[in-house]
Amino acid sequence: MNHSFQQLRLDAVGRKFDTVSGSAVAALSGLSLDIQRGEFIALLGPSGCGKSTALNCLAGLTSLTEGSIWLDDTRIDVLPPERRGFGMVFQNYALFPHMSVRDNVGFGLRMRGVRKDEIARRVQSALALVQLEGHEHKLPGQLSGGQQQRVAIARAIVIEPPVILMDEPLSNLDAKLRIEMRAEIRRIHRQLERATIYVTHDQDEALSMADRIVVMRTGAVQQIGAPREVYGRPNNLHVARFMGYRNVLDCRLVRQAGDGLLIERNQVQLNGTAIGDLSGRQEVAIAMRPDDFEIADDGQANNINATVKTLEFGGRDSLLLVATDLGDLYVRLPGAFAPGDRIRLRIPADRVLAYAEAA
Ligand code: ATP
Repeated sequence: MNHSFQQLRLDAVGRKFDTVSGSAVAALSGLSLDIQRGEFIALLGPSGCGKSTALNCLAGLTSLTEGSIWLDDTRIDVLPPERRGFGMVFQNYALFPHMSVRDNVGFGLRMRGVRKDEIARRVQSALALVQLEGHEHKLPGQLSGGQQQRVAIARAIVIEPPVILMDEPLSNLDAKLRIEMRAEIRRIHRQLERATIYVTHDQDEALSMADRIVVMRTGAVQQIGAPREVYGRPNNLHVARFMGYRNVLDCRLVRQAGDGLLIERNQVQLNGTAIGDLSGRQEVAIAMRPDDFEIADDGQANNINATVKTLEFGGRDSLLLVATDLGDLYVRLPGAFAPGDRIRLRIPADRVLAYAEAA
């Protein structure tokens, strides 16, 4: 496939599966996305949202039932997987257990009939890129999980694919290694300058690795944006909840001036920020992250009296469940607290997001 491509385009891609009862269920629908060369895209969502179906459609392992996929001007969804030549990395590494690291990595090149000296050169350079030089003769079983995943990455990149597809590649690794490998995969991506499409259900992974995140739910795209955008301005309550806005409450909309709002619940008034069009609404739902609260100084606006109910100590800070007139809230604060403590909280108006939905 075209190595010097500039853009991978998904145009209203959809995939339906027939069920036993005879009706068709959409595992994926209406996925439109232009991916530039050099971009790192995360497909993020809970189990069953269609992430793997999207990746399999790209790889050619699943056919589309709607839409098309293009690499620049070439329509590729009609091509078999081997003609697309995308690199794939799976959760379970999928290495050949009886083959050495070198043979695993060189497998795709041997299948393509590449000359022996060329294979040796490219395998060596792929192993150098994933920092596995010196392990060429080992079997996968003699390597750690992290090293095995590096072999799988080397095997995917040795064929010099225009696009690399990764399906939850870090979920079998322990927490510390997972975090190290995030940076490692980013580094490899930057050096290769191709496009990476990375499936995960882990928000932190998506936020820390991706240039853009595609948030999905039941086969449909909910939001596409840079990590900062999706994190700071989720465009509906589903995305908000998924991004950690644990406090979601129905409120009355008292007044609105532009995006600025005054909302009320149980006689507590708060300034908030409209997400989307709230014109004509009297009821809204607000979403607030535990991390956006702080202890209020005297005279500060947007404060709420609270009593600590329970707490979960977390090292630098604690996650408190507090009772307030708004209702129970989760807040994350540094410092020492005990159940029964009375505190005054504050949250900035731009961190109280209001939606035209019910909580
Ligand atoms: P997970 O993280 O659990 O793998 P996912 O987000 O990758 O989930 P998909 O595997 O893409 O989700 O599945 C999306 C939906 O499509 C699910 O409801 C699933 O049951 C259904 N589905 C996927 N593949 C098939 C198939 N071959 N036949 C029928 N239904 C399928």
